[in-house]
Amino acid sequence: MKVNTDADVVVIGASPAGIMAARNAAMQGADVILLDRKENMGHPPHPANTFFTFMMDRSGEPILDTYVVNRLRGMKIISPGGMVVDIETPGFFIDRSMFDIHYRTELVNAGVDIRPGTEVLSVIRAGKLFRISTSDGVLVSRLVIAADGIESKTAARMGLKTTRYPGDIAWAVEAEVRAPGIGEPDMFEYYIGKHSPGWKSTYSPAGGDLATLGVYVRRHGREVSDFFDRWVERFAKLKGYGTNDIEIIARYTGGDPIATVPHQMVADGFMVTGGAAGQSGIGYGMRAGQICGEVAAEAVAADDVSKKRLREYPKRWRGEFASEYWMGRIGLELVRKMTDKEIDTVVSVFAGRDLSSLRGTPLVQGMKTGLFVARHKPSALWAYRALLRRK
Ligand SMILES: Cc1cc2nc3c(=O)[nH]c(=O)nc-3n(C[C@H](O)[C@H](O)[C@H](O)COP(=O)(O)OP(=O)(O)OC[C@H]3O[C@@H](n4cnc5c(N)ncnc54)[C@H](O)[C@@H]3O)c2cc1C
Repeated sequence: MKVNTDADVVVIGASPAGIMAARNAAMQGADVILLDRKENMGHPPHPANTFFTFMMDRSGEPILDTYVVNRLRGMKIISPGGMVVDIETPGFFIDRSMFDIHYRTELVNAGVDIRPGTEVLSVIRAGKLFRISTSDGVLVSRLVIAADGIESKTAARMGLKTTRYPGDIAWAVEAEVRAPGIGEPDMFEYYIGKHSPGWKSTYSPAGGDLATLGVYVRRHGREVSDFFDRWVERFAKLKGYGTNDIEIIARYTGGDPIATVPHQMVADGFMVTGGAAGQSGIGYGMRAGQICGEVAAEAVAADDVSKKRLREYPKRWRGEFASEYWMGRIGLELVRKMTDKEIDTVVSVFAGRDLSSLRGTPLVQGMKTGLFVARHKPSALWAYRALLRRK
């Protein structure tokens, strides 16, 4: 039976995942409205600004000069005692506003009705339809996709437990900084250890005199500014800058669901994608959004938006990503529980060695890594007992 709706699909949030969900659903014939409370797509920009080819490859999206501001040769993983593992893998520092502007064009070309400056206030299911109350009136649709980020209220209101470890969000402070030559190196730097418990401190060179510095901390509350201030001081010393040489241009805070592990993604007529579903990262979020949008369009075309039908989305997503997110969580838990000395011991096994043999699926990589340590420094395997620690 034909029912009166404003759209087949309403997507809440122009996050990387929301953009992909809206675009791909529209490309497959669905009538799509995309809402975002920001006045303009990409303004103010999200702080996420760096990705590597191996992440973006998952989405199959091309990487374009229109938004790339600096090309990186790879990343350095650096232990508390200064052991360095070099990983050669092409990376990109992007202008996030230009990135969003590029995708706005893609959305327009796909026929998505984009409505910036529209805040969603509530989503209520009424029979087979949803009533979406916004700052600009009420919309009615058959299917809602929540892509409204890490602090999504929409999914929680639908009763979904979107992640397995919701308390394990990494809270971050990231800043754009200026200092003479700070943007010139061609390697991203990823520091692990107790200075940033639970994950990392970062340095991403943006070219010339610009870069970003960030800390991502788990289990120390949302307020992690002290960790950030200490990181800037430490970084200045490491790189030979005076304390006042590094100017903070803009400072952002936010959460990253990297270790939370995605869980429930669908209900009747309802789907969650991106950070709202614990799917961290620009490239991985985009791929998740693509799958979500394609399943949404298929469900609309089949006139069946039941939970049973929409389960195809988590099924396809799990096939591509589940083991990676689990391995990622185990790795981050290991780093969180190890002492700085243990991290040094493990990192020293990989420092200066050719790591190309460690490629493969996440599970294969995990196994090969264990064998690699056993072959080169068996005593370092002892440090892995940290995983058994309760805290
Ligand atoms: C400081 C920081 C730095 C990061 N850096 C990187 C990085 O360099 N590379 C990387 O791959 N990942 C990075 N991440 C991870 C990042 O969180 C994700 O990759 C991604 O960019 C964020 O996507 P998201 O799905 O969480 O949604 P977001 O990008 O947060 O988008 C959610 C959107 O929903 C809108 N919205 C929310 N509520 C409503 C509502 N009620 N009504 C209407 N609209 C609404 C918001 O305005 C927003 O546009 C970083 C995270 C943080 C916190």
